[in-house]
Amino acid sequence: MRRLPPAASRRTLMRAGAVALLLGAASPVPTLALQGPEPAKPGETAAAKARIVIVATGGTIAGAGADASNSATYQAAKVPVDKLIAAVPALSKVAEVRGEQAFQIASESFTNVQLVQLAKQVSKLLKQDDVDGVVITHGTDTVEETAYFLDLVVRSDKPIVMAAAMRPSTALSADGALNLLDAVTVAASKEARAKGVLLTMNDEIQAGRDATKRVNIKPSAFFSQWGPLGMVVEGKTYFFRAPVKRHGTASEFDIDAIEGLPEVAIVYGSGNMSPAAYTSAAQGGAKAIIHAGTGNGSVAGYLVDTLKGIRGQGVHIVRSSRVGDGFVLRNAEQPDDTYDWVVAHDLNPQKAKILAAVALTKPVDAKELQRIFWEY
Ligand code: ASP
Repeated sequence: MRRLPPAASRRTLMRAGAVALLLGAASPVPTLALQGPEPAKPGETAAAKARIVIVATGGTIAGAGADASNSATYQAAKVPVDKLIAAVPALSKVAEVRGEQAFQIASESFTNVQLVQLAKQVSKLLKQDDVDGVVITHGTDTVEETAYFLDLVVRSDKPIVMAAAMRPSTALSADGALNLLDAVTVAASKEARAKGVLLTMNDEIQAGRDATKRVNIKPSAFFSQWGPLGMVVEGKTYFFRAPVKRHGTASEFDIDAIEGLPEVAIVYGSGNMSPAAYTSAAQGGAKAIIHAGTGNGSVAGYLVDTLKGIRGQGVHIVRSSRVGDGFVLRNAEQPDDTYDWVVAHDLNPQKAKILAAVALTKPVDAKELQRIFWEY
């Protein structure tokens, strides 16, 4: 027989049965209620709630479909932030929340313009004494890029937590409400301070630097090859590890000094490649090309001269891998020292693109760029 927790803690447990679909009613999103901490008893002082700002950018978490059975056919970026907040009454039990609508777009439509604007907004909010943390609702397609970008350029130890969803708010078993509640729970927790940008999906707390979307159709979409940092269960955070790479206040980059990002291209490796993919990227103005190579960032013999030539024109060559896990070793597959190339280490191509763009906001040679790839 399952032992029940003591009555007091039992009263604070989440009531899973309190999820109510309000399809067709005023709100297009289901509501998720949670019985919060008990009110202070006479003579006790209630602990002040953390003040969390939810910055909404769109995505599936704000998506709406025609029918509750539409889990994959829907329009992203439809529900405004105030409705997202209203759909999760439990939020007010964990924190004092308010919303700001930064954008209302699907995340595949993010450009450097949105990245810079969002980071400036978040940095400004976190400088305010009346803000303890920020949660950003975002599409899942590029949340890994945005999370890593914010990790690198927002100089704050206050929590920044990304919340996303794989199912639109109108779908049966929509995952957004709980992911949002979990994100606010994490952002309101002291343990989340100085851990870099985090992502809460599917009950897990992932490091924004490491998390990557690996499944395009299931709520368990995000993985990190180094494992999640922890979990959120029934309104409580459980951390088991912390990131060691430079981020936040330990970063040398600062969004307050960044007005735009240089172009960085990714060329996907495969058999039978054309050198034109690299030369056109360089001619198009890319300051670095991320080579998403096969295996250990391998470069086909017939492409080596093309890449050496492009490096000779001042464009950085960064060897990453299309494999997803593992890390590219310097001077192993190619003589990087001789060719003046850089390796992306454990960063996948899209994360390497973000770091290269941030690093190249200042003039850096390949040695310095490699130092940055080791440290971040
Ligand atoms: N295309 C959507 C987006 O990234 C997918 C999602 O949010 O799950 O905005």
